[in-house]
Amino acid sequence: MGLKETLKRLERHIIESETEEDACARKEREWLERANTAYSMIAETMSDEHAGLVFAELKSFYACADADMQSAPLSSPAKEVQTMAHQYANGVRNEQEMAMPPALFDVWRRFDESGEPSSSHVECADCGADYPYIFGNYDSERGCDGRPERKFVDACLLCGGEVGFCHYSNPNMRLIHGRGIAV
Ligand SMILES: [Zn+2]
Repeated sequence: MGLKETLKRLERHIIESETEEDACARKEREWLERANTAYSMIAETMSDEHAGLVFAELKSFYACADADMQSAPLSSPAKEVQTMAHQYANGVRNEQEMAMPPALFDVWRRFDESGEPSSSHVECADCGADYPYIFGNYDSERGCDGRPERKFVDACLLCGGEVGFCHYSNPNMRLIHGRGIAV
């Protein structure tokens, strides 16, 4: 029997003898490894200052979670970085989509400064970057009550792509709005 085949058999044996708990722990470890890979990829696109801020925040967030303590809420840039890493670990975002360059970071920081408790988000049709979006107030009888919607960008700051709801995550919207694709 060749070495390759022996190894394959051994591997199969190890996998088969794995208990359910082992399999669970392995899956969790692999997920964490993927998330950590994503964090490193994102960090490479960030300024040193921004990376320092975000990773200090995430560290204390997880330290609190480990200690079963209530942590301070994450800032929007940190939440975005965390979401991207989780999406990568879950296999719904790829390597090219792991980015938080200064321009994108600043938009999310501006959203925090606006004092809005929560936002919806819009996506770049081409690169998938997420941007905050705040709905205006609308009353069906009186019409708009004065607070307009707030778009933070008119086009993607990273690639110039069109930005809108589900423009990237929904393949149909992507077909309609993606640049360079004949409609
Ligand atoms: Zn873009």
